[in-house]
Amino acid sequence: MKPFLYETADNIIKNNSESIHDCCLVFPNKRTKYYFRKYFAQIIGKTSRPPKMIEIGKLIREITGFEDAEKLNLIFELFKIFKKFNSNYSFDSFYRIGEIILSDFNEIDAWLVDPQQIYRNIKNLKEIDSHFDWLTEEQKELLSNFWKNFLTEKSSKEKEIFIGLWNLLPDVYAAFTKYLISQKIGYTGLIYRVLSEMVDSDNVKINKCQRIFFLGFNALNKAELKFFRYFEKQRIAEFFWDGDEYYMSDKKQEAGDFLRKNINDLRIKPADFPKNFTKNKHFNIIGTSLNLNQAKLLHSIIKKDDEKYGDDTAVVTADESMLFPILSALPETIEKINVTMGYSFKFTPLYNFIIKFFKLHLFFEKHKHKSFYFKDVLNILKHPYVKDYNSKISEEITTIINDEKLIYLLPEKLLKSEDKLMKLIFSVSKNEGNTQYLLNNLLNILFIFFDKNKLESEEESNSLKNEYIFRAYKKIKRFREILNENNEKLSLKLTYEILTQILKSDSIPFEGESNEGLQVMGLMESRNLDFKNIIILGVNEGNLPKISRAPTFISQNLRFAFDLPLIKHQDAVFAYFFYRLLQRAENVTLIYNDLVSDSNSGEMSRFILQLLYESNFEIVHTHFNDEIFIQSRQFIEIQKNHAVSERLNRFIYNDSGNSENKAFSASALNTYLTCSLKFYYKYVAGMKEVEKSDDEFTPAEFGSIMHTALELIYKDLTFENNDKIITESNINAIASEIENYVLKAFKQHFITNKSYSPEGIQIIIKNVLTNYVKTVLSYDKKYTPFKIVSLEKEKAYNTLLNVKINNKNCKVKLFGIIDRIDKKGDVFRIIDYKSGNKPKGNFSIENLFNKETKNKNPNAFQALFYTLIVSNMKEFSGLKLRPSLYYARSMNRFDFSDMPIINEAFGKLALDENVTEMVLPDFKEKLTDLIEEIFDINHTFKMTGNTKNCEYCEFNKICY
Ligand code: SF4
Repeated sequence: MKPFLYETADNIIKNNSESIHDCCLVFPNKRTKYYFRKYFAQIIGKTSRPPKMIEIGKLIREITGFEDAEKLNLIFELFKIFKKFNSNYSFDSFYRIGEIILSDFNEIDAWLVDPQQIYRNIKNLKEIDSHFDWLTEEQKELLSNFWKNFLTEKSSKEKEIFIGLWNLLPDVYAAFTKYLISQKIGYTGLIYRVLSEMVDSDNVKINKCQRIFFLGFNALNKAELKFFRYFEKQRIAEFFWDGDEYYMSDKKQEAGDFLRKNINDLRIKPADFPKNFTKNKHFNIIGTSLNLNQAKLLHSIIKKDDEKYGDDTAVVTADESMLFPILSALPETIEKINVTMGYSFKFTPLYNFIIKFFKLHLFFEKHKHKSFYFKDVLNILKHPYVKDYNSKISEEITTIINDEKLIYLLPEKLLKSEDKLMKLIFSVSKNEGNTQYLLNNLLNILFIFFDKNKLESEEESNSLKNEYIFRAYKKIKRFREILNENNEKLSLKLTYEILTQILKSDSIPFEGESNEGLQVMGLMESRNLDFKNIIILGVNEGNLPKISRAPTFISQNLRFAFDLPLIKHQDAVFAYFFYRLLQRAENVTLIYNDLVSDSNSGEMSRFILQLLYESNFEIVHTHFNDEIFIQSRQFIEIQKNHAVSERLNRFIYNDSGNSENKAFSASALNTYLTCSLKFYYKYVAGMKEVEKSDDEFTPAEFGSIMHTALELIYKDLTFENNDKIITESNINAIASEIENYVLKAFKQHFITNKSYSPEGIQIIIKNVLTNYVKTVLSYDKKYTPFKIVSLEKEKAYNTLLNVKINNKNCKVKLFGIIDRIDKKGDVFRIIDYKSGNKPKGNFSIENLFNKETKNKNPNAFQALFYTLIVSNMKEFSGLKLRPSLYYARSMNRFDFSDMPIINEAFGKLALDENVTEMVLPDFKEKLTDLIEEIFDINHTFKMTGNTKNCEYCEFNKICY
């Protein structure tokens, strides 16, 4: 396989052997130039003086003599000019508008649209015919559609603001660009516009350029087309398109859209495109769940055939967050790896620290410069950079917050220690200069982190960390300088927004300077390069194509009318990247993540579907299912050796009063059914959960407050009520007090401080919980009169179960904390409150114990488990019992029933007292088998086969 750039170098050398030094070769980017130069040197020999080789961006700046201005500086300049036409805006209120205006100016200029025309305010649709006679009828109609909205429909405040702004833009554009041109600085679009004017006045000079070759271009803007055409008209230009007959000859293939358009617009003879795409290829398409599994899969693919996947192999990722998982998954047998891609700063822990730092101070500002919020403080204290610096002090503060149940913390409380880092994190300035003060502190914090890393070791991971820190330091410092230069006082909120935007858009470049070894790169970096073996990860809809809709004031109608790029153009760009990369390859593996999540559609890319339905290749399409997956990852399995058995035996009951005695809860057994390894980690090895995310309010807290509120209500209703009977009027009597009970529950949960009242999100949660408690009580009202037998914290229920452990008769203890037991007539309900929705579907005893089933019903398991415990207790022996599940979110539905529904051989049955009596023995038998299995030395604790269970598992960092 000869790469496109090799073939092109060969062709240019052969056809221009005499005059090669007077040629100029223009590339779309640096990397294409780099690879071309290598091939060129291989063919021509190193002694020869190479021709001028330059990427287009650099060439254009060289010709025009213009330099790029920083975006933030441009927005400040734009603001100064804008203020002359409308002084109602502060920089805070202008910034977002300014960004959109600048981005629109950039496109208008690069596509050579007349700003006076596009920003013309149409007062009458007839004006369209007179002012835009050069537009086609279709374009005129689209323009009319845009303006009709403003002319015919009722005016609104938003429309008035928009029109007011629109009317200013022609003048703002003229004044802004006049200023930039006078300074010889600009944004990319403006530099293109300047170039286009130089072309018009025939004033384009490139040193020693008798012939000019344009290599590997695809999507061109209007200014580039004009520039290329300028040389083409002089008959000194030659174009080398990296295309393939497969998509070039079929107009329906969007991958060829731009190349076809270029050839047409440049009015050049259509090239004969090679037919590489349809040559023999091996295609494998594999779906797998979880992003990390894609990397694991990569490992096994390469390991299986590591001789094949050496040189001439590219691992390409359509999702840049996959870079580090890919690098850590590559087998050690691969000796040379060359990485070329940008790794977005937003994926680094440092970015995460900066976000936490600002959140901490934004809350402080919102709280009238009085106190920090405890969760923000805890979040920052548990950040690895802070913990690494001084774990002792961060743990001390954490303990104080937890022990004293502090919610709002005064800075003084956090500044007691003499620790340098704590002082920089928690110091505040109450005056107007807080933003500058915090930026200075942040810079000093970065300095501390940098220093610490440097001192600790020279390891590669530390120097990489320092690279992030150094880049962030430079960016923040420059940001602070720009703010000073422009003498603008920004709010903390805007400072946070701009700074995170600047940092988010920064990438740490890994620019490999070698074409030897296995290449790892992003899709963008693969432009114009060819490899025999290609493995692409993250081939999902959403990544490929990756559609970004930058905010704009120019509607799609106007864009169409003025020939500006549309969303569909982005599709065509990505289609080209994709097909081009495959055209010369021989072995292609495409991997996608089929698990639906917040960040993933779970759908394969449309380009895979195109391949499956349109190409004639025999494509092997598999799903990397759990079974295969288990064999291919490092499977963790814990044998029940002596040490493990000893820990496990703490669950065997002995009546010596040994404090080591442990009991089985419903959640421990449900954990075992979900994943026996997880059970081992949590209940046998006693590993603690890794702390969860920074959610303001966890579901567990939510449920706990609801439980407490109901408990408090029923405690009060049964206080001095000897027969403990609850009537309808009892419930009516406390109806107006429900909110207060919820408030009391909040206080119990958070603090003891009497003056506490919920704030912010807590108010919303309090209202939601109040509604849930009302729903529960109105359900209860319909059930009145009933007697309260016990409430949650009054006692823990437990019982002993006979089991045979490794052929010995033993007992184990089962225990549960039951929310409520009540009695109506002669039926006792064993109630558990749930703050969620009632799950769909029914359950069977068989299914409750089935480890493989994906539709578990842990709530039904828990309800029967509690009922079994109660039925074994002396005081309930022989009584009528039934489990009851109160799903607060579903209880106001007219058909709601608190009885779980069981699928029995003869149909669906509600678990009333009779059915419960019938199924409990079966449940008990299966439960006994399950517990015996847990102790059985022939059964290991092993990873679950259902990887969906791993997604939110607190131990997945250990397993993967
Ligand atoms: S990550 Fe998966 S395999 Fe590992 S303990 Fe959790 S559920 Fe089990």
